[in-house]
Amino acid sequence: MADRLDKQLAAQSREVQYCTHCVVSNQRPRTVFNKDGVCNACEYAWQKEHAIDWSAREAELSVLLDAHRSKDGSFDVVVPGSGGKDSGYAAHVLKEKYGMHPLVVTWAPFIYTDIGWKNFNNFISTGFTALSCFQNGVLHRKLARTAFELKGDAWEPFTFGQKAFAFQMALKFNIPLIFYGENGEAEYGGSMKSAFKPFESVEDWDEAYFKGSGVDALAQKGVEMGIFSAGEVLDKTFDLYKAPPLSDIKKLGVQMHWMSYYHKWVPQENFYYAQKHTGFVTNEDGRSEGTYSKYASLDDKTDGFHFYLGFIKFGLGRATRDAMMEIRSGHITREEGVALVRRYDGEFPKKYFKEFLQYLNITEERFWEIVDSYRPPHLWEKINGEWKLKYQVK
Ligand SMILES: [Zn+2]
Repeated sequence: MADRLDKQLAAQSREVQYCTHCVVSNQRPRTVFNKDGVCNACEYAWQKEHAIDWSAREAELSVLLDAHRSKDGSFDVVVPGSGGKDSGYAAHVLKEKYGMHPLVVTWAPFIYTDIGWKNFNNFISTGFTALSCFQNGVLHRKLARTAFELKGDAWEPFTFGQKAFAFQMALKFNIPLIFYGENGEAEYGGSMKSAFKPFESVEDWDEAYFKGSGVDALAQKGVEMGIFSAGEVLDKTFDLYKAPPLSDIKKLGVQMHWMSYYHKWVPQENFYYAQKHTGFVTNEDGRSEGTYSKYASLDDKTDGFHFYLGFIKFGLGRATRDAMMEIRSGHITREEGVALVRRYDGEFPKKYFKEFLQYLNITEERFWEIVDSYRPPHLWEKINGEWKLKYQVK
């Protein structure tokens, strides 16, 4: 097999340490602890509550938007999003509160869920124009397959386009302002380099999101593995997965901002907001597999596997992700979070398993071979033929 591309796994500490405030551990990439054992995202949450002057941030936002607002009603801000609660919130406040003219750009999920498609339609029916990119149905699958084999995460081609497509469209439509919802690095634990800045540079996001290897490197590995033919990887559609040339971005002066820099970001409150204003609805069958929540990451039938593989590689699943955020925003206690994690984390996403296998064109046997190859020996042990985590949050 070709060499694995993911540099994060090699950097994983062999000693598992949990945050004393939330439920995350140091196994999560780029999560670090202070001397009191508190993770960087919890420290940032404290800043949000006690140190950041939100009215000053609001004033900064007004100045920025005043400089970009169009006078003739033409699009003046690109908002990447799918109609989920966070992008829905960002697009709606930009339009209704600040009088902007957003062009929503959507990098389609691998396989839309019914609820995801419904939310997207509900969202645009509240008065938004969206431009969707449905990726090449052969090449996108092959990228997902390659990423699943080599990085233990089929999700990666999605993250490439989620960033790059917005920049591509900003250039095409001559709109120098891009607004994302949250700075995920600061909010969920990661690089704090841009936590107190309204935007980050293209160089920074390349490092943070592309894990040191872009779509070309991934496709090239796919050729070595026989997933792609040599000709396929020359397809121009891959340009949509890449940032436009830096010189073009600079020429137009494109800036990518986060709403979470200007407005205190509370996912649960975005949920209530989106429910009220953009027609957002939750999972009809209750909670999502692998967690207790009903409103986060609902668009894609494959996302359960992204979270499940995170659980395999880092010992941290979807319930951990939800609980750590709700502890930080004060909606649940650490004790409640621990109980939810112990109950739901790592639950297998069986609902769309068949479709996921078909999408990647792999057998169930191969799926488990890959999954098991990503279990770090310092996190997992096999007892009586069953895989068990060596550590759990307490
Ligand atoms: Zn924490």
